[in-house]
Amino acid sequence: PSAMREVLVEVPNVKWSDIGGQAELKLKLKQAVNWPLMYPESFIRLGVNPPRGVLMYGPPGCSKTMIAKALATESGLNFLSIKGPELFSKWVGESEKAIRTVFRKARQVAPSIVFFDEVDALCGKRGDSGNESGSSVQERVLAQLLTELDGVEELRNVTVVAATNRPDRIDQALLRPGRLDRKIYVPLPDAETRREIFSIHKRKTPHSKEVDIDELVSKTDGYSGAEVSAVCHEAALAALQDDINATELCMHHFSQALVSITPRTPASLLD
Ligand code: ATP
Repeated sequence: PSAMREVLVEVPNVKWSDIGGQAELKLKLKQAVNWPLMYPESFIRLGVNPPRGVLMYGPPGCSKTMIAKALATESGLNFLSIKGPELFSKWVGESEKAIRTVFRKARQVAPSIVFFDEVDALCGKRGDSGNESGSSVQERVLAQLLTELDGVEELRNVTVVAATNRPDRIDQALLRPGRLDRKIYVPLPDAETRREIFSIHKRKTPHSKEVDIDELVSKTDGYSGAEVSAVCHEAALAALQDDINATELCMHHFSQALVSITPRTPASLLD
């Protein structure tokens, strides 16, 4: 019961139009998550077991969380979100119970999406952790998660969406058919995606006519989505520092922001 109170069910409000670019990615995820929930008869008719879950992997700050929320918003699904490391810190000694609680709640409020962010913390490869007791808790949590996914109690209308920066640390058992059987790479934003992120920002913040989005796009190769957003945010702060009565952002504000915000994604996290 104590754990129950901490599992928040939300109805998120992230729309696809809030997420710049990534058209192909959005489609793949809709197919994997929304279609089985919207057209279950079609899957049954063709003898296909709808996917139980998907794993999104890729560098940090590239919209995995936004996408998971948009999937829920799009189909009016309830959304339960758990960060891997949190499961151990918030529910000390009761981490497996927390997993059961999350799924019980998800079934109660179905159709729903359970989002496991930083899922590698939950289910690192078995026997990977140096810490003896730590690893056995992790093993029990993973075992519980697999049990829920395989569910004797059928997981109807509950889709699991998981995200990680470190797919190499995920226990393969989690990726077997009938579990998180779709693996989808969420890359750094390409030029078109960065252009859209700048444009989304421009809709909310007045820009001087001389602001050249093409130039900003070409200067942000290698930036994550979060870093592109940070550039916009820093540019606005620079404008305010220049003049607290500023009414628009100019190119030099962006130039300043590009000096302080630099791309940080280590090559090891790219596919
Ligand atoms: P992490 O792996 O760190 O959890 P993530 O991949 O889940 O990151 P999000 O939390 O979804 O990334 O994105 C971080 C922030 O970056 C968002 O809140 C948003 O401001 C911005 N962002 C990233 N990608 C996009 C995008 N394609 N369109 C608009 N904003 C974006």
